[in-house]
This record gives sequence, C-alpha cells and structure tokens, in this order.
Amino acid sequence: MAQLSGVPILILREGTQNVKGKDARRSNMRAIMAVAEMLKSTLGPRGMDKMLVDSLGDITITNDGATIVDKMDVDNPAAKMAVQLAKTQDKRVGDGTTTAVVFAGTLLRKAEELMDQDIHPAIIARGFLRANTEAQKVLEKLAVKIKAGDLDTLVKVATTTMNSKGAVGDRSIFAHLAVDAITGIGEEKDLLNKVKRIKVVKKKGKSVQDSRLIKGIILEKEPVHPEMPKLVTGAKIAILADSLEIKKTQFDQQTWISSASQVQGFLDREVNVFKGFAQKVKEAGANVLINQKGIDDKAANFLAKEGILAIKSVTQSDIDLVAKATGGTMCASLKDLEAKNLGHADKVECVKVEDTDMVFIEGCKDPKALSILLRAGVDKSVEEAERTLHDALCVTAVLAEHKSVVAGGGAVEAELAARLKDFARKQGGREQLAIDAFADALEIIPSTLAENGGMDPIDTIAELRSKHTTAAGKWIGVNLYTKKVEDTFKAGILEPEQIIKQVITLASDLAALILRIDDMLIAKKSRAPAMPPGGGMGGMPPGMGGMGGMPPGMGM
Ligand code: ADP
Ligand code: MG
Repeated sequence: MAQLSGVPILILREGTQNVKGKDARRSNMRAIMAVAEMLKSTLGPRGMDKMLVDSLGDITITNDGATIVDKMDVDNPAAKMAVQLAKTQDKRVGDGTTTAVVFAGTLLRKAEELMDQDIHPAIIARGFLRANTEAQKVLEKLAVKIKAGDLDTLVKVATTTMNSKGAVGDRSIFAHLAVDAITGIGEEKDLLNKVKRIKVVKKKGKSVQDSRLIKGIILEKEPVHPEMPKLVTGAKIAILADSLEIKKTQFDQQTWISSASQVQGFLDREVNVFKGFAQKVKEAGANVLINQKGIDDKAANFLAKEGILAIKSVTQSDIDLVAKATGGTMCASLKDLEAKNLGHADKVECVKVEDTDMVFIEGCKDPKALSILLRAGVDKSVEEAERTLHDALCVTAVLAEHKSVVAGGGAVEAELAARLKDFARKQGGREQLAIDAFADALEIIPSTLAENGGMDPIDTIAELRSKHTTAAGKWIGVNLYTKKVEDTFKAGILEPEQIIKQVITLASDLAALILRIDDMLIAKKSRAPAMPPGGGMGGMPPGMGGMGGMPPGMGM
C-alpha cells in the first residue's frame, strides 16, 4: 500500500505478502547462509557425502555441490538464488560449486556482522564489489601461466579436482582419461563444446580400471540384421538421416488386382526399391551405414548380402558425434550419398558389454568427438564416477583453454585475503570495513578444508596468516594428504585460475544483490488453475520467475 498525500492507494493485488526492509534482507541472507552451511561439510578431499532421496524414493549419494543443490527441493526464493549460483558456476567452469556457495554464505554472514554495527547494506555491497575488482587484479598477477602441451600440469589439475570426490578409487586413471580426451580432440576453443563432444557411456560391472578412451564413438546399438559383419576394418561410413522404408501414402487407396502376375509385379517393384537402397550405399563405397531413421527388414537383408554393417534409429546427437569423430557428413537423403561424404574409422566392431549391445566406431583420425567407456562396480558408484569424470573433463578443458593455474588447498584464497587486507588498509571510510570483511570471508575456504580434514581451523588460519605476509609464502595452504600447512603448489595441488575467478565474481555479485534488496513482494501462490484462489504463501509463484529476475531497481 502506498501513501500519497494521505490517500491510501492499493497497488498490489490483494493477498500479496510484503516483507520490508531489514526483515526482507535478513531473511534472504539467512536462507543463503543456510544453504552454505549445509554444503560446508562436503568441501574438499575430506568432505563427507550427502544422501539425497527424492519424492519418488530415488537415492543419490554424492558430494558434488552442483548435484546436491540440483536435487534439493528448495522453496525459499533467496535459497533458490544460491542454487542458481551453484548451477551457473557449474555451467561456466564445471567445478568450484561448493566453494562458491560457501563463500557467498560467508560473505553474507560477515555482512550481517557489519549491519549489526550499523553499517548500511548499500555500503557493504559497494565494498564487496570493489573487493571483487581488486581480487581479480591480484589473481591475474598471482596466477602462473602454463605452456601448451604441459600434460603434467593438466594431470595434476584433474587429480586435484578428483581429490574431493570420495567414491572414486583410482584417480590417476580418471585424470589421464580426462587429459587424453581433452587433448585428443585437438585445439578447440570454447570449453563447453569440447566437453559436450566427449560421450561418456557408463556401464556397471568390472572396475574403474577397465574404463577406456575410444578414439571414436560408442553407440548402444546392434546391427539391423544378424548376418551383417560384426567387425569391419578400414570402415567407410555412410551417415544418413533418411528412412529406408517404403513410405505409406497418406490416403487409403484401393487398387483392383485382377491377375497373379500383377501381384508379382507389385512385389518385384518393392524388392527393387529395397535392393536399390543397398546398391546405392555400396556404390558410394560405404561398408558401414549409420542411419538416424528406420531401415526396413527387407532392406536390411540386401544390405547384409552386400556385407554392409547397418545401424538404425541412432539419435540426432549421436549422429552428430559420429560425423565429428569420423570426419563424415550426414546426408539427409540417400540420393545425395557420395564417396566424399563418408566418414572413416580403423574399425567398427559390435560387442556385448555386460548385457548391452554396443557398436564401437574406433580409431578415427583427428577425431573432433570421442567416447569414454566408464566402468565401475555398482550403480551408485558409476553415477558418482560419471560426475567425477565430468568435473575432471571440465577442469582440464578450462585449463587447456586458459592455461593458467593457482595453488589449491585454500592457498590462493589465503593469499587473496592477505592482499585484500593490505588494500583495505589503504582505503578510507566504511567501505574499508567491507573489504576487510570480504578478505575474512575468503579464509572460510582454508578453514573449512582444515576443519573437514580434522585439523584445527583456528590454528590453521593463524599459521596461514603469518606465512602469507611474505611473497615466499604466497602458495602456503592446507595439504590434507600430509595434514600440514605447506606450499600446496609444490605439493601439486593445482587448480585453474578460472575456477576461483568465477567463484569470487559470482559470489560477490550474489551477496551484493541480496544486500541491496529492501522490499520483497510475494504474490499469492497460485494453485492448480481450477482451484479457487487462496493458497499458501511461503513459496515462489511461477509468475515471479525466481528472485534472480528481480530488477535491480527494486533495491535501494
Ligand atoms: P567444489 O565443489 O567447490 O569444487 P570440492 O569438494 O571439490 O568443492 O573441494 C574443492 C577444494 O578442495 C578446493 O579448494 C581444492 O583446492 C581442495 N583440495 C583438493 N585437494 C586437496 C588436498 N589434497 N588438500 C587440501 N585441499 C585440497
Ligand atoms: Mg570440486
């Protein structure tokens, strides 16, 4: 309700809940702190797992921040923004999700302390954003450039990412798989595209050691005819999106047949069409046919007679990957198939893996897409193995693209904190306090790593602070393998600069955004359309599209 010269004006629909000022802000801040608090225990190599049970009773066991928030049934609008933060971090760089949420929660906790000292939230927000800008500058100078083709560092970085994933046994296998995969698809910008071109096929059974990289694509398919070859070497692959069936007419049509020879004529013509399909594939020089659409049994028969291995009903995305891996071009019509469109592979082999039929298109030259066959003992561990591999692939791709690293185990956060405290001291006014609080908040990362690893967080922070006063101590962090505060760069605990860069930017943006909100208008929750109005409040109405969409002008 707004008040203009004493006349009350109703601007909101009846039933809209309006939370104002301090209450709105604090409740948002608390919600994000709560999400952070919940994720804290999963951070780092000694973090614990969460078991998530959805409304249908499906169980997920993971310590992957992005997965946890994804499966959480969050109803609070601000908490949803924390979830969004984790997802954005995951989408942009594929790792650092827990770190981002824990840092954002801590920023807000520090902000609350400042608000208790009567510092205006807008000043805190501004201070945080300035601290972020400064942190990015420091980070750029701090990060160490690596050379292209420095596989050793790539493996170290991939291993560091996987340190914090408990369920996976042998990390070095995964690290090498990830590095081989990323470096195997050549120099390619745009990390997300690169990772999307690596098809991970998971199969329960055997162990992680039996996972392998395939220079080509695995299709979970079988040949359309039992007499087709199970192995084709020197494969020339026709990639098609054309139905090799006789199309039914749209209208019913009756034809009067008056003699037996007429029937034969019809059948012959049909046979000729199917024969023609096989002939055309053969003429193009192909010995393998991968089709997105169907293949009639009779056509399959003729293809088999020609010794062609044919697979039908392959998904569009798999067709794309096959084309990228084999260097072929997909033809939308069989008519257009020519030798120059064919893809190439050393061999195409049909194999049964456990109980699933698979086709391995292998040994492609300069493939632009690859597959990894992922094996692990039990269902839940294959899934966690897949998430782990995904993180490793993303991180490797990020590093291969940006080529600069920092030391993990909280070292980079501790160094940034130290530098930001120096910076704060040089600033006047109250913003200085916010920058200082920002620096303190960064220390939550080493302190949580230590705490989860059974080290004393207070002693650890004290030691880190004293070591980070000199340039020589810039990479001192927590090594949870030796349980020592030491140079984690030397210990090979490395992360791409890009991960921490995103963590800091996204978390400070979220904190600043939350701090600037002083009014929350929550529309009445609409239930199923048929129901009369009048539902509960707490939730987020779909129309409001999540608080993420709150226009900035709504703040102060
Ligand atoms: P996130 O979801 O943020 O990636 P993780 O649970 O994967 O969270 O933990 C990542 C943190 O674990 C990073 O700060 C990384 O430096 C740290 N870390 C990895 N290996 C070690 C180690 N051996 N000792 C201490 N910290 C480590
Ligand atoms: Mg991680």
